[in-house]
Amino acid sequence: MEIYKTKQEVNNRINELKKQGKTIGFVPTMGALHEGHLSLIRCSKRDNDITVVSIFVNPTQFNDPKDLERYPRMIDKDIEKLEAEKVDILFAPDEKEMYPEPDTRQFDFGYLDKILEGKHRQGHFNGVAQVVSKLFDIIPATRAYFGKKDYQQYLIMRELVKRYMQHLDIEIIPCPIIREKDGLAMSSRNLLLSPEQRKSAALISQTLFRAKELTNMMSVGELKQFVVDTINQNPHLKVEYFEIADAETLLPIENWDEAKEKIGLIAVYCGEIRLIDNIEFN
Ligand code: AMP
Repeated sequence: MEIYKTKQEVNNRINELKKQGKTIGFVPTMGALHEGHLSLIRCSKRDNDITVVSIFVNPTQFNDPKDLERYPRMIDKDIEKLEAEKVDILFAPDEKEMYPEPDTRQFDFGYLDKILEGKHRQGHFNGVAQVVSKLFDIIPATRAYFGKKDYQQYLIMRELVKRYMQHLDIEIIPCPIIREKDGLAMSSRNLLLSPEQRKSAALISQTLFRAKELTNMMSVGELKQFVVDTINQNPHLKVEYFEIADAETLLPIENWDEAKEKIGLIAVYCGEIRLIDNIEFN
């Protein structure tokens, strides 16, 4: 695997490969890699000649300094995993390389960045847009892969390309959520849970799966209440939000017939660790 730490070097290499007619798949990550990340890499390898992964814990997308400080970092282990997947190129810059000066750009995604994660994590999506727009300019890929685990982020990435990156021709490809055996959506933050919290966290996805079975029997309002009450009964868990929305627009719905594709999106505190998940109801 080729490893680059500077923008210039990786950009030169990508342009060289593109000149040779190679298609480039790009998987941006913050490291502490798990099967969720590896599934995106496998999708990219299936679709493209060359697969590029980036690892960068982006400070501007953390609205909580404690969350940034305790975010797991394990570059050596990550490199081993990427080698095993036969990734072609890793871009692993440091903070100075990505932000030689503070990024003051403000992105506007309309309604999409003001709700759900956008509402509860002020500035989060602006930070994501800052880093991903830089990464896309450095690595002008053919396709970029994002997990539906971060569903709202995936929709915002589509919007980022449409609104701000018309000079590039990057296709955003969504990939399914990868889960642990007990259903918990894989996340680097799961490493921060105590054994007791980890056990409790399985209730989040299990409740979402149950909710999917109940859509014919309950109104939207009743189902929302069911999910919140069931999860909050566990002493380790506290629901921050659960919303049922149109999966295309993320506009909340009040009746099942208001949208064709429907999705339930949730954020839950498990102790101090904030976890997100979602379920598509169709
Ligand atoms: P992160 O390192 O958390 O920023 O995630 C990098 C990419 O991996 C994002 O596109 C995430 O949506 C995706 N991802 C993280 N966890 C999962 C998962 N459990 N299943 C599928 N994709 C995931």
